[in-house]
Amino acid sequence: MGAAIRRPLTEMFAGSGLRDEPWVLHFHCYLLRDAAGRLTLVDTGIGAADSPAASWAPVPGTLAGELAAAGVAPAEVGAVILTHLHSDHASGAVAEGRPVFENARYVVQQAELEAAAGPMLDDVVSVIKGQLHAVDGDAEVAPGVHVHLAPGHTPGHQIVRAGEVAMTGDLVLHPVQLADPAIPYLYDDDPEAAARTRAEVLARLRAERAVLATAHFAEPFTAL
Ligand SMILES: [Zn+2]
Repeated sequence: MGAAIRRPLTEMFAGSGLRDEPWVLHFHCYLLRDAAGRLTLVDTGIGAADSPAASWAPVPGTLAGELAAAGVAPAEVGAVILTHLHSDHASGAVAEGRPVFENARYVVQQAELEAAAGPMLDDVVSVIKGQLHAVDGDAEVAPGVHVHLAPGHTPGHQIVRAGEVAMTGDLVLHPVQLADPAIPYLYDDDPEAAARTRAEVLARLRAERAVLATAHFAEPFTAL
């Protein structure tokens, strides 16, 4: 599920050696359905026309239409995992001042909630607060679906694991960071922590032969 915008690569990934050309930034969310039919959504994209992402992203996002095309009603989703509270991942959690997924738990790391501020606090967290499922570190949040704290991009950034697939949020933004996890991303909150986490987590996922499901690569799935 995605839309795309263009950003200058040399600015976004300093020292990467990438050419001075636009970066086509995609936005992917992932819907998991287990054998019992339970549905878990990982991230909610850029959201409605009045979303906090409206100042920079191509709103409205396309998640609602893509769920409908997959035959999924929002009320059927049992858990929504937000990898972090940036506007291109969490804004689609709400629309018209209400939670979009009325029966879902919204799974967010405690550290991320504590750091929430501005429109993401006022327009998203405060709207979903009655459905929040705060976790602290590693947790199984639905059968076979695990979250793992992976801080640096944001204080409470988390990744999601389901079988061999790892949904990595903004652990990596561009394939160049797979080859060199030390390459920073302009909007990492804590670049050193982000680089350390990226190196550690990618090494572990590579050893486990995980398949990455990224938020922003052109191709959603990437083998390591
Ligand atoms: Zn992002």
